[in-house]
Amino acid sequence: MTARADGRLAGLPTAASAGGTTVAGVIGRPIGHSLSPTLFNAAFAHLGLDWTFAAWDVAPGDGEAAVRAMTTLDIAGLSVTMPHKHDALRGCDELDARAAALGAVNCVAARAGVLRGFNTDGDGLVAALRAELGLTLRGLPTAVVGAGGAGRSAALALAEAGARVLVANRSAAAAQSAAQVVGEWLSTAAGAGPGSCAVADSAAEAVASSTLVVQATPLGMADDDPLPFDPALLTDSHVVVDLIYSPAETRLLAAAKSRGAATANGVGMLLYQAAEQFRIWTGETAPVDVMRSAVGL
Ligand code: NAP
Repeated sequence: MTARADGRLAGLPTAASAGGTTVAGVIGRPIGHSLSPTLFNAAFAHLGLDWTFAAWDVAPGDGEAAVRAMTTLDIAGLSVTMPHKHDALRGCDELDARAAALGAVNCVAARAGVLRGFNTDGDGLVAALRAELGLTLRGLPTAVVGAGGAGRSAALALAEAGARVLVANRSAAAAQSAAQVVGEWLSTAAGAGPGSCAVADSAAEAVASSTLVVQATPLGMADDDPLPFDPALLTDSHVVVDLIYSPAETRLLAAAKSRGAATANGVGMLLYQAAEQFRIWTGETAPVDVMRSAVGL
């Protein structure tokens, strides 16, 4: 197996199951409502690939063992979702540079007995922003509200794409840690570019001084959640992206829309991070529109 300079595997993968259907899947908990089987199976069928995608309910703490089991069970690709993104990293033999920098894996590829971990979340967000909103990220003042797994990967990919990122988070330590990870990434050859990442004292400060706002906390998933920041800060020059996709329109997005801001929910990121996983596993360009209509979003 050879790795390219960008850390991606070169060439087409070897089918995991000799002479039979190649198996991929997702691990997580809860997993019952995962859209991944529907969107990946639709993509495999559309391209006539003899692959199938399953979902496994894996208990917290068992992510590393589940990744290791890929070799025994002849599983070619694994998507990894909460709460396993950190544990899964320990089950990998090799890591893509982004996954190593972020300390989290959302995709594993098995090639010739080697398990390689990737993190496609941030690249998925950037691809969605470009494809669906036509945004030019270079030099764009950007607030990332939230510094958990999604916020960190978003901040890293946005800064790598040239955005001037301000991270705001409830706990200052997590925001500082995210900015440090991104700063270190930007200082490497892989991440070098015109972008930057710093910590804001508050979400209000970050939002008020940005054009693009990425909402990366879970606030808004439940009807009675408080808003992550005061929408009165928003104007018609803001672009507000909420990484939540269920509900499709959070209270924040509704408020942003009513103030004239452009808005998008997390469906684009979901689809494009999956499309990147599809490419890693199969070597094929994912049919994103087919995946989108399969999940009805
Ligand atoms: P996570 O790692 O648990 O991080 C959660 C973040 O939200 C942390 O920064 C946390 O701050 C903050 N937070 C949590 N509760 C809060 C509250 N009550 N008030 C203020 N801040 C709060 O979660 P994650 O994986 O980053 O996911 C975050 C969101 O992104 C979720 O809604 C998830 O569904 C969504 N997401 C979407 C996609 C997609 O493809 N669209 C992908 C991944 C995640 P502290 O550090 O202070 O705890």
